Amino acid sequence: MTGHAHPITHLTDTIVRIFTEIGFDVADGPELETEWNNFDALNVPRDHPSRDMQDTFWIKKKPGVDKLGRPMGHVLRTHTSSVQVRAMDTWSKKSEEEKKSQPLAIVVPGKVFRNEATDATHESQFYQVEGLLVGEDVTLSHLKGVLETFFSKLFGKNTEVRLRSSFFPFVEPGVEVDMQCFKCEGGGCGLCKQTGWIEIMGAGMVHPNVLKNCGINPRKYKGFAFGGGMDRLAMLKWGIDDIRLLYNGDLRVVNQF
Ligand SMILES: [Zn+2]
Repeated sequence: MTGHAHPITHLTDTIVRIFTEIGFDVADGPELETEWNNFDALNVPRDHPSRDMQDTFWIKKKPGVDKLGRPMGHVLRTHTSSVQVRAMDTWSKKSEEEKKSQPLAIVVPGKVFRNEATDATHESQFYQVEGLLVGEDVTLSHLKGVLETFFSKLFGKNTEVRLRSSFFPFVEPGVEVDMQCFKCEGGGCGLCKQTGWIEIMGAGMVHPNVLKNCGINPRKYKGFAFGGGMDRLAMLKWGIDDIRLLYNGDLRVVNQF
């Protein structure tokens, strides 16, 4: 056989396989997004620092709002969460019966962009993966179960997950997700800085404002969402210590996969 899948492609395939096995669909969306889908619908305040030119690549920054009261700018998406907005918009238009029998369950792998300097752990263009489940009676314990299944399958070991309280505008409550270190299995090692845990992604229950912005009644439906860097997962899985190695096209790296 000639040629190789790039490690990120390889990881994307693995993640998609794991999530489709447990009933999630794969969703995709454009990399050039509206300001509304990238920020406002996700409950990010208009004056939030993440909207700065220093953090976001603006394609078109326009003052004022359209007739729905939505800002009219366009950005290179700064996270895959804009795809959640699109998926929830579509799902919200289904009949109540359909919504009850078919919760919205998606996994979204994709490329995102941040206007920042490059170093060993930062790139201005990188990959995220995120997931969303919206339905009746969805709780944080469902989130924990899904993530434990995901990490256990990805790292090939029974992996526990720990949730720590945190804040993100699009979730309430918000949590930081730690997974048990797969190298020392919680005993403590260099990889986990002797703590037994690795900080891996952000998550939480979808904020009622976000549900409302996407046409979903937060009194009837709840959801959880999680998201994190695919690069970080790849670096952990294969022991890569510099993110730039994933993107500089060095065949000595690519050929190892
Ligand atoms: Zn460890």
